[in-house]
Amino acid sequence: MYRNFLKSFLDTQSLKAANKHSSKDLKYCNGLCQDLVAKTQFSSTKMICRSCMNTINLAKKQIEDQKITLEQFKKDPTIVYKNNNEEETKITIKKCNKF
Ligand SMILES: [Zn+2]
Repeated sequence: MYRNFLKSFLDTQSLKAANKHSSKDLKYCNGLCQDLVAKTQFSSTKMICRSCMNTINLAKKQIEDQKITLEQFKKDPTIVYKNNNEEETKITIKKCNKF
């Protein structure tokens, strides 16, 4: 379920309300956008737009491959588009000798 991948999302009621007040060409993306998006960006009856679907699918795969964790993705969804060589920069040695 895509909701597992989101930090926040609208419940069914709020989603209905958001769509009610939007224009005919717009639909509320209950994915990473959390905003009104052109209807053409959605496939059929999905609640999240295509680009969010793609991002979440990428995340699923990377989580399966243990490249990222779900928590990391929730904090920063753009992580799926970042290069993997970032892992090396994380291992920085702090030099506190002067203290
Ligand atoms: Zn979206």
